[in-house]
Amino acid sequence: MSRSKVLPLFVFIDACGWEIIRDDSFAVAFAPGRRRLESVFGYSSACVPSILSGRWPAEHGNWCYFVYDPEGSPFRFLRPLRHLPAALTSRRIFRRWLSRVVKARLKFEGYFDLYNMPFRYISLFDFSEKRSPLQPGGMNQGTNIFDFLGGRGIRYHVSDPAQSEAVNSARLVSAMEEGGIDFAFLYWPELDGLLHRVGNQSGEIPRRLRAYERAIEGLLRVAQAHYEEVRLYIFGDHGMANCDELLDLQAIIAPLPLKMGKDYAVVYDSTMARFWFFNERARELVAAALQQVPQGRILPGEELEELGCLFPDRRFGELIFLVREGVLIVPSHMGERPIRAMHGYHPSEKHSFAALLTNQPSISEDITAIPDVYRLMAHDAQLAWEANRSSTVAERGVGVSPAPFSATSSSVYAEKMRTDPDT
Ligand SMILES: [Zn+2]
Repeated sequence: MSRSKVLPLFVFIDACGWEIIRDDSFAVAFAPGRRRLESVFGYSSACVPSILSGRWPAEHGNWCYFVYDPEGSPFRFLRPLRHLPAALTSRRIFRRWLSRVVKARLKFEGYFDLYNMPFRYISLFDFSEKRSPLQPGGMNQGTNIFDFLGGRGIRYHVSDPAQSEAVNSARLVSAMEEGGIDFAFLYWPELDGLLHRVGNQSGEIPRRLRAYERAIEGLLRVAQAHYEEVRLYIFGDHGMANCDELLDLQAIIAPLPLKMGKDYAVVYDSTMARFWFFNERARELVAAALQQVPQGRILPGEELEELGCLFPDRRFGELIFLVREGVLIVPSHMGERPIRAMHGYHPSEKHSFAALLTNQPSISEDITAIPDVYRLMAHDAQLAWEANRSSTVAERGVGVSPAPFSATSSSVYAEKMRTDPDT
């Protein structure tokens, strides 16, 4: 059997942060090249689309999940649930079940979770990620890597996040053994969930890294049996900070002489609060109250612009309050109870940075932030496609066999994929 020439293998490990692997020998045996990458301000709902599109949130339009939009809200049918006891409706198991029902009913294709959004107010909000950024046509604005690959007839394999890491790894093995792919994107989300649960100092983290090493070595053996060159990249989207201080921000805002839904609207994410105002008094009172909170600060417009997160229509919030690393807003609309660790702090905070590891001898100097991974993917996919096509043509003889990749759709291996939940 002949081998194809080149396979770029991109292994995305959610929350594979620079501080997580910095003092660990993770993957040095087969991916010794390492670089610290700047992350994107926001959660995985911002980071993953930025990696997949090579652009920043203000450019691709995917940032935080819930946005104030009472006219456009698809959640009106959930309002009667506000009469149910909170003992039921705040439970994670109930929320998970209901999220699946709502996702199916509304035909959302990406990741969807109601988190801890109060049913009393849910009809004020829309959900900003109705399509999956991990599929062609999945961005709110512009294109992503799968549009790029499909448009050029580059055949690829991508994980299905509805499946386990083990199933996705096995499917990648099958795709490599069949040999017809020029690009592979593997998605492993479990490190993120583990870090949220146990924190970044737990002994479970190095154990998980060892398990990932064994899995990647197994994938490499298969890849190298079927491809002459495997260009391996392992990367994360952000790190993880332990949460040692809890902040009940709702207890500070709720007593103000203002009415939610009438004077203002707010989404309490785990590390930021996003406000919309319907009168000047509300804007002044909320801003004055937030200025008294030492655990965080209001981000100025210029700073949001530098972070690539300033939206001219302020659709994600007119005022963004961000806490410093290590503080967790709880209860929030993301969770009722504390978790051990969180991300979504300022990208300049120590634990925000992501890691990139590779078996390539060098990485271009201009790869400095996670959206730059897109350029690596596009470059290597193009390179592999050209190499594999020429090798196939040479072996079969031009004009004798059918055109190498004409028979198969570029998305033959593409499967439904969603982004990682942020708990
Ligand atoms: Zn997370």
